[in-house]
Amino acid sequence: MRNTIKAIVAEETPDGVRGKLQDLGTDQLPAEDVLVDVAYSTINYKDALAVTGKGKICRSFPMVCGIDLAGTVTESSAGDFEPGDKVLANGWGLGEKYWGGLTQQQRLRPEWLVRAPESLSLEQCMAVGTAGYTSMLCIQALQDHGIRPESGPVVVTGATGGVGSIAVMLLARLGYQVAAVTGKADAVAFLTELGANEILPRDELDRRARPLESERWAGAIDSVGSKTLATVLVQTKHSGCVAACGLAGGFDLPSTVMPFILRGVTLAGIDSVLAPQEKRQRAWNALAELINLDKLDQIYSVEPLARVPELAEELIAGRVTGRIVIDVNA
Ligand code: NDP
Repeated sequence: MRNTIKAIVAEETPDGVRGKLQDLGTDQLPAEDVLVDVAYSTINYKDALAVTGKGKICRSFPMVCGIDLAGTVTESSAGDFEPGDKVLANGWGLGEKYWGGLTQQQRLRPEWLVRAPESLSLEQCMAVGTAGYTSMLCIQALQDHGIRPESGPVVVTGATGGVGSIAVMLLARLGYQVAAVTGKADAVAFLTELGANEILPRDELDRRARPLESERWAGAIDSVGSKTLATVLVQTKHSGCVAACGLAGGFDLPSTVMPFILRGVTLAGIDSVLAPQEKRQRAWNALAELINLDKLDQIYSVEPLARVPELAEELIAGRVTGRIVIDVNA
């Protein structure tokens, strides 16, 4: 039984909000039913915004950062879980409203937990993480809309990011033709290896779009927003579907209604944070089946908890390719 744990804790400072490595007493953990020994967490875009203070993510302070975690249950007063169970959690306000995953232990509500798929290790679960789970929600939105591999190419924006890179990998595995949009000139080999058939420079979409342009995409997964999303919409084929999940390029959407009323394009909003349990389990089950573990190995690095503040700065600066898994005990 430990008395002290290490965690990345965001606090208000005279220079704004900053997340730093701190020692916490285990008696400070929230009074929730399930105690989890965390093995791995990750740094997502939202975590980077929280840790650097570049976005208003934390609703109260001090806040243990980290929107996801994977670990082993060590205590539970909830019937659903018992010590030894391997679990993971994404979203639900972790690292925003409730203490999150960048810590060696956390107390959580049972309804926030998903059983870790048996075919994935805890490290692999976090290599997939919120980013991979969000990619799968996007893909399932396209599938539910009837977009099949034979419908035509699917474009993925922010393609070297966490969401984008896993989306490229999964779409290719499902047999879709994938066009990857990236701002990184040196990412061609990385994206081709993941399964992209075509690579487009970011500038080609990050511009003022016309009300309608030539139809190119049967579907799209957009983690960028703003002008990029607007261009994707006007290039989407009749009856196509665009899954919008992110705002790495901005939260505005400078568009018109033309793609919707003249081409029947659907804009599907994706929210992983409050997605209901059955949607999560469906996404994780599909991920466990589809993920190519050799390719997954190539898109993540494992880093210690102490490096989180530095890595968060790099992620915000757009210098990170793929996923960063945090070994909270390293
Ligand atoms: P990453 O930082 O890993 O990836 C974002 C990628 O977007 C970058 O790698 C880069 O890819 C591209 N990008 C970065 N800055 C810009 C810019 N200014 N203009 C255009 N493209 C840019 O983040 P994640 O993959 O973790 O998250 C992506 C987005 O999705 C974020 O906005 C995040 O908040 C959101 N998200 C939403 C979720 C939801 O539930 N809706 C869940 C998870 C994430 P490249 O260099 O290849 O162009």
